[in-house]
Amino acid sequence: MTTYPDLKLYIGGAWRKTAEELPVLNPADESVIGAVPVASQADLDDALAAAAEGFRLWSRTAPRERGAIMLRAAALMRERAEEIAHAITLEHGKPFRQACLEVVRGCEFFEWDAAEGQRTYGRVVPSEPGIRYIVMRQPVGIVAAFSPWNFPMSQPARKIAGALAAGCAIIIKAAEETPAGALHIARALHDAGLPPGVFNLVFGVPARISDYLIPKPQTRLVAFTGSTAVGKHLSELAARHMTPVLMELGGHAPVIVCDDVDPVAAAQASATRKVRNAGQVCTSPTRFFVQEAIFERFARSFVEKARATVVGNGLDPATEMGPVANHRRIEALEALTADARARGGRVLTGGERIGNRGYFFPPTVLTELPDDARALREEPFGPMAIINPVRSVEEAIEKANALPFGLAAYGFTHSAARADLLAEGIEAGNVSINTLEASVAEVPFGGVKDSGYGREGGAEGLDHYMTIKTLSHRMA
Ligand code: NAD
Repeated sequence: MTTYPDLKLYIGGAWRKTAEELPVLNPADESVIGAVPVASQADLDDALAAAAEGFRLWSRTAPRERGAIMLRAAALMRERAEEIAHAITLEHGKPFRQACLEVVRGCEFFEWDAAEGQRTYGRVVPSEPGIRYIVMRQPVGIVAAFSPWNFPMSQPARKIAGALAAGCAIIIKAAEETPAGALHIARALHDAGLPPGVFNLVFGVPARISDYLIPKPQTRLVAFTGSTAVGKHLSELAARHMTPVLMELGGHAPVIVCDDVDPVAAAQASATRKVRNAGQVCTSPTRFFVQEAIFERFARSFVEKARATVVGNGLDPATEMGPVANHRRIEALEALTADARARGGRVLTGGERIGNRGYFFPPTVLTELPDDARALREEPFGPMAIINPVRSVEEAIEKANALPFGLAAYGFTHSAARADLLAEGIEAGNVSINTLEASVAEVPFGGVKDSGYGREGGAEGLDHYMTIKTLSHRMA
């Protein structure tokens, strides 16, 4: 297996190192595995100039040709999937198998958008005789994108694929803690023959980069995935310059388990899903509202499955859950557990860091939490589930909607009437019934309320990367 890649910026089709670097740690043992370059203002100016050139060329390139380059890049990443996944496991900690699936998902985003880019149709609108009204969709321009550390390859892939398919140029600041996924996308795009400047990859001090790029008149869209707090800050900054934003922010996904389902099957599926990516997923099932009749059996089965999870180094084939990605997650999960205990909640399993080297935290299940417990209000973003009983589906929906978040939500029921109640009543961008899948390339994904706005994926996924021009043409 190859070693961790040599990290560089990619600007104007060329690789570059910088004077300042930050260490990249392996969360499984806290060893230093690489050094990520920190972009200076001069590097960002070069990226803006390169993107302007790139946009001029790319926006006039036929969508089929754009799609062909994207598909070539995706094919290269599929060929290199094991090498990419290995780097992701080293920098992020997730099990190698999950890293492989992430790479495939990232490729699917490229493949879907490559085709979708060929369907950015406009319309001809009938009106007064002699005048033809044409609604045209055009690429918005240069995109400044910011992707987080939880999916080092598929998170940047989603934004890059959308931008390139729409005909935009992009400068992406990928996560400094997990830079290899984005670096491998840059390699694949370079090798696939993407013209210089269309895609630029930078790393650095996040606030320095966003404060510099967002106010620039060349930046025509800000695309961010990360926490609600940072998303609001970047949205405010963009609003001052009338720059539109695409915001995929935090969630705190409710799961409503109705008493007409098999509690053991629902619990096993939920606990398995909970530990995926060590729970560091914005759609991770977290707040379980289980009808009283099946509550005990559901909770017992969930705890059994959670306790049986093999936690370890992601490179060990037996591992089902790796470490959390950084020390901040350990601190956050410990604080939520302490608050739960202080408020009279019970810790059914987990709650304390495993060992003191590597950021290992066990699957943790809390119950009997009052509504104002921090774990029920703040996204744990880790392997933590809260299971509380409810009397009715209506009560569960009310609790599900009580938070300012609205990203993913789940329900288990075999009753068509209850499924309708959930589908209609839950305030979320994505509601999944009898499945814990919420986001695939073919369907739009995004949030309501504090979970952000705009959609990525599906037929709607390119909307934010495009602007509308209406042409009124009086014919001779
Ligand atoms: P954080 O709020 O400091 O950072 C979140 C992300 O935003 C990181 O990728 C970070 O690099 C970036 N960021 C921070 N300040 C920025 C700035 N001024 N300009 C540009 N980018 C900036 O917290 P964190 O500890 O890295 O992550 C914790 C929280 O973030 C989690 O609790 C979760 O809610 C959220 N998060 C969400 C997702 C998601 O997929 N929606 C992914 C990662 C993190």
